[in-house]
Amino acid sequence: MSGSVDAKALPEAGREEEEILEEMRALREEDVNWHDGKVWSLVFHASDELAAFSKQAYGMFYAENGLNPTAFPSLRRFEVEVISMVAKLLGGDLQVVGNMTSGGTESILMAVKAAREWGRKRGKSDPEMVLPMSAHPAFEKAAHYFGVKAVHVPVRKDFRVDLRAMRKAINRRTVLLVGSAPQYPQGVVDPIEEIAQLAQRRKLLCHVDACVGGMMLPFVRDLGHQVPAFDFAVPGVTSMSVDLHKYGYAAKGASIVLYRDAELRKHQYFAYTEWPGGIYVSPTMTGTRPGGAIAAAWAMLNRLGLSGYREIARDVMAAAGRIRAGVAEIEGVDVLGEPTMSVMALGSKTLDIYEVGDALAERGWHLDRQQNPASLHLTINAAHLESTEQLLADLREAAELCQRPPTERLIQRSKLLLVNTAMRVLPGPVATKVTRVASRVLGIGDGELPKKTAAMYGLMAALPNKGDLNEMVIELLDKLTRHEGSTPA
Ligand SMILES: *Cc1c(COP(=O)(O)O)cnc(C)c1O
Repeated sequence: MSGSVDAKALPEAGREEEEILEEMRALREEDVNWHDGKVWSLVFHASDELAAFSKQAYGMFYAENGLNPTAFPSLRRFEVEVISMVAKLLGGDLQVVGNMTSGGTESILMAVKAAREWGRKRGKSDPEMVLPMSAHPAFEKAAHYFGVKAVHVPVRKDFRVDLRAMRKAINRRTVLLVGSAPQYPQGVVDPIEEIAQLAQRRKLLCHVDACVGGMMLPFVRDLGHQVPAFDFAVPGVTSMSVDLHKYGYAAKGASIVLYRDAELRKHQYFAYTEWPGGIYVSPTMTGTRPGGAIAAAWAMLNRLGLSGYREIARDVMAAAGRIRAGVAEIEGVDVLGEPTMSVMALGSKTLDIYEVGDALAERGWHLDRQQNPASLHLTINAAHLESTEQLLADLREAAELCQRPPTERLIQRSKLLLVNTAMRVLPGPVATKVTRVASRVLGIGDGELPKKTAAMYGLMAALPNKGDLNEMVIELLDKLTRHEGSTPA
């Protein structure tokens, strides 16, 4: 299978619909198959029935544009109701306001942008934010886009942020402290109460990234599990990000950014009044906003209600519990830390966990690789209820296989690749494609590249300069979204 894509021009005459759809179906065959519960990231699926309902709602508002809320009072109403429903779920009072965005990244971008403006009003012209190294890269992206310096602090052995380090990293330029509920890599909730208290004491803003947890933790708590305080019930929390297209099981393109009050949210907004096209005002990053995503999110919240979400959470937590218990019985593989909900990482003290991941990939499983420490990632959701036992069986087999000493291990350091981000974005079967592309980028023959991700991550760790890695990853990304025949810059 080749990774190259040929350049195309628009067809002179339009093609037959059935032929187009056929081509799309065929291409889809090469994608990871998430529907059988073997993909442990990227897709959240409640049931075929609920997905059909969601598509119906999406289709109904397929053409509508959320850019101008006065033209579509329906969308405005959906958005405002979605915001208030989720704010209430997360301990917010009637002062809490927010906006819908296209996803967690946009929600986080907006919270950081608002914090920057808030800081400017207070004379902080070189704003900084302090965040755990486990925080989502969207914060780094916000730093990159908006010129806010991201100051990373370490996590403790339990993977929660080191509060002492956080306190020490605060200076007079700091505007924002960040905690996650939970963080993605190991699924643990940062000490939000302490972070928020620290923020209050130092007169700073505090953002809680509940992108993955916001639509899950309240129900997990209802079910009687231990969930630390993480939301607007905690004094000092000033903003939150919550994805609906994750455990809200809404159509993709639906997230929320929430603020403690409307005054704070104003720092997020953008207006331009000089344009010949009229007075332009926009709440979030995007201009045109897909009505379908807003409408479908509203529909799903109403369709499931508290009891529907609780029921799904019960099943998902049962599956998560089953996996934790099953992993505990497999020699050499451990769940890292104490995950609060259904997001977790598998590591090992004795095995090369990437090799275990490769063995799982050979059995059709798709688990993202993580680093520092090396681990495999699981986001357990309703799509996995039927596949947990098979996962455990294959994991046991994979772990046994990897107990044996590998016949040939490492390949020369200097020839080295790659590619941490790209491997996370494009894991599993795509990895082979990526290495091939990478080999061309770096002018190394195919044969000299490690075939498996385990070996690649091994080499990656040996890379002397992380800056080189950054550049390589970006070059790869550029390659991947280019057609055959275009010349590199
Ligand atoms: C998924 C996620 C994000 C980013 O959300 P996108 O919808 O992918 O942009 C941010 N933070 C956490 C903790 C996440 O799990």
